[in-house]
Amino acid sequence: MDKNEIMLQGFEWNLPADGKHWDRLASMALSLHRAGVTSIWLPPAYKGTGGQEEVGYAVYDPYDLGEFNQCGSVRTKYGTADQYTHAIRTLHRFGIKTLSDMVMNHRMGAELCEKVKTHVVSTDNRMEIQPETQNSLLYTKFIFPGRKGRYSNFKWDSHCFTSVGYDKKDPDHHLFLIDGKSFAPDVDGELGNYDYLMGCDVDVNQRDVKKELIRWGMFTLNKTAVDGFRLDAVKHISAGFMEEWLSALRKKTGRELFTVGEYWSANLASLLSYLEEVHYSMSLFDVPLHYRFHEAAISDGSFDMGSLLNDTLSKTQPDHTVTFVDNHDTQPGQSLESFVSGWFKPAAYGIILLRGQGIPCVFWGDLYGMPYQNIPPVKNLRLLMRACRKYAYGQLYDYFDHHAVVGFTRIGDSEHRGSGLAFLCSNQGDGEKRMFVGQEHAGETFIALHGGFPPVQIDEEGCGTFQVSERDFSLYVPAKARSNAPVFAVNKDRLISEAASA
Ligand code: CA
Repeated sequence: MDKNEIMLQGFEWNLPADGKHWDRLASMALSLHRAGVTSIWLPPAYKGTGGQEEVGYAVYDPYDLGEFNQCGSVRTKYGTADQYTHAIRTLHRFGIKTLSDMVMNHRMGAELCEKVKTHVVSTDNRMEIQPETQNSLLYTKFIFPGRKGRYSNFKWDSHCFTSVGYDKKDPDHHLFLIDGKSFAPDVDGELGNYDYLMGCDVDVNQRDVKKELIRWGMFTLNKTAVDGFRLDAVKHISAGFMEEWLSALRKKTGRELFTVGEYWSANLASLLSYLEEVHYSMSLFDVPLHYRFHEAAISDGSFDMGSLLNDTLSKTQPDHTVTFVDNHDTQPGQSLESFVSGWFKPAAYGIILLRGQGIPCVFWGDLYGMPYQNIPPVKNLRLLMRACRKYAYGQLYDYFDHHAVVGFTRIGDSEHRGSGLAFLCSNQGDGEKRMFVGQEHAGETFIALHGGFPPVQIDEEGCGTFQVSERDFSLYVPAKARSNAPVFAVNKDRLISEAASA
């Protein structure tokens, strides 16, 4: 009797840089399990240029999981390599899978400069490449003095990169294509060609680099026992390479290696064509849906709620979608800031957790709040996560048929006793809607878990009339399923003793 999956993004941008996050996650494994979390996306675990302050995306040495004295410390922002692997083992004991955040697009923090011939490229249009070369001084040679060749003695230098953003001899320009190289053709077409994002752009199609990145993937799997990947910045990386990399690891390990790619585009067509290009070898985050939520939340009632799910990945390719409301980049102060306002968040989470289209990913900052910015946890998020696990089964019926009040139902299934639900949300005015919850519920009573409304009698056609208050959501479930018993049958003492001995 499989239950619905819930992924947790296990970090936000402003976590304290105290080196205790891996231990924190290990100690939270039981409570995460009880909250319904089935997998967790862990932040990049390897050394970045910011050392122990580094969130993880300014990658320096991907083999240094907090094990070598590099970039000013042994540990990373989150802890040491031992703490990381211990956290993964502990999460596994509670049935929680782990995803490693893989940043392959770029490298930063090289120790040494190299004399390299380059072409200046226009940052606004990367097809505008100056034909003449110039003599550049590029930080492209990596030594990794603390690691001394452990795990891999691959030498990173200018032959491993396509382009860089800094030439010591030419501070006036900000993008340089290394002579003899070309941008990968199979990347996003924004700015002419979006291969370059930051730092030293890795030439993933260079034969020895490709081999090295596969070796790193195997190192990650063998050293840490993670179950899959979150791939960073895939719109800036050759799609052909990404598919080849994943397929090589799956072949070598014989494992499924669930993978979700971050293709940051609000344009559904771009996501669909990428999925096609990589032959559906991964899922993608539903970025368009995030932006629909954001628009709805800031529109003060003028957003047409009937269009909320239009042109979203979860509606088009639910089997290759991870849905989310916010993440570490969209939270206030970050590069893609587009934070969904607090009042709308419960409705947005209801939609991703209960409709069953795509795997929902709950953001750490929404579940636990973001103390650094005085942002509280999202109200009723835990209730919605419990409802996801207990009630959100069976056929889905959508009622996105009104500019302000929309909803959906799940009719439940026989595998999950007492399942089924009715959900409504409003961005303006109180409302009600007659919705079908399944013929098999005829004559039953549905009660409101949230919304404060009286029970609803389901008529002989399997329909009920459900209510919602202005700028709120309501959630109704079959009355007979309600019980005070915990949603998850867990032998708490056994799990705690297992955690202690892990
Ligand atoms: Ca790139």
